[in-house]
Amino acid sequence: MEELSGTVLVGESFDPVRGRVVVEDGRIEAVEETDTESTDVVIPAFVNAHTHLGDSVAKEAAVGLSLDEAVAPPDSLKHRRLAAADRDELVSAMRRTLRFARRTGTVACLDFRESGPAGARALREAAAETGVDPFIFGSGDPSVLDVADGYGASGANDDGFAAERAACAERGRPFAIHAGEPDATDIHPALDLDPDLLVHMVHAEREHLQRVADQSVPVAVCPRANEVLDVGKPPIRELLDHTTVALGTDNVMLNPPSMFREMAVAAKRFDVTAREVLRMATAAGAEVAGLDCGVIEPGRRAALVVLDGDSDNLAGTEDPVRAVVRRATGLDVERVLG
Ligand SMILES: [Zn+2]
Repeated sequence: MEELSGTVLVGESFDPVRGRVVVEDGRIEAVEETDTESTDVVIPAFVNAHTHLGDSVAKEAAVGLSLDEAVAPPDSLKHRRLAAADRDELVSAMRRTLRFARRTGTVACLDFRESGPAGARALREAAAETGVDPFIFGSGDPSVLDVADGYGASGANDDGFAAERAACAERGRPFAIHAGEPDATDIHPALDLDPDLLVHMVHAEREHLQRVADQSVPVAVCPRANEVLDVGKPPIRELLDHTTVALGTDNVMLNPPSMFREMAVAAKRFDVTAREVLRMATAAGAEVAGLDCGVIEPGRRAALVVLDGDSDNLAGTEDPVRAVVRRATGLDVERVLG
């Protein structure tokens, strides 16, 4: 049994409670209000709702390129670099990225893995013993579902994806798809596939938001990647008013997968509260992937981050939720559990 004391951000509303979290056998046994001297801040660990870890072989290589030049299949810079990387180099680069993700508080990421079954296998190997569990949305032939957790489609303007969608339905696996990144033309066709997750939705309009609500489709947003690729800003406020919204860091080639950085951008440049952003970075992604983490309450998996609330960076911040969302960095992390 272990006790973590300090300010605990409890439940779905992240109410700050002075007290302790009791952990036993990897699960939260109890959350108790009590006097404590500890200046630590205990929060749920992050679930990164959209990554492309394979791009770890092309960090900062796409600066100044358009969306098509940088990432569009099959001939963009990203795909040329992935084709050129040998397997050991790819596995090693993804493993180092996952170690960084863990150190910055992330325990799971929902990854769109290129290169079919071989790509998915390479990511499983890379993730071993990193403390980050990849939920893999595979690519290529539907048989990738033998290795991957779900299917990740590049976008409805690239292909029909009917067979892949049907294979997911048959096997009870989630089907995810990019939509509305450069423009709105692929959003209705993506929604016609009855997806379990939409990624981006930068150009979502009222009619799309209505369908998202009607079909109860969660959305992963990646505001920093959208900024680097200059495709616009996702309507996060409107999306939150219609469905579950989760936060992702997207391509490793464009940005480091630090949820602290993504949260700060989301909180400062969009009409959303710090609590909403923290939920997007934790419980929302967990819900999409069916993971039992993201909320501090008894019975849940004890996937937790302990921050030093008295670090030179965080000392004196008046609101602990704002401190975590808008100000904290990886340097403030003391421990990551679970
Ligand atoms: Zn993506």
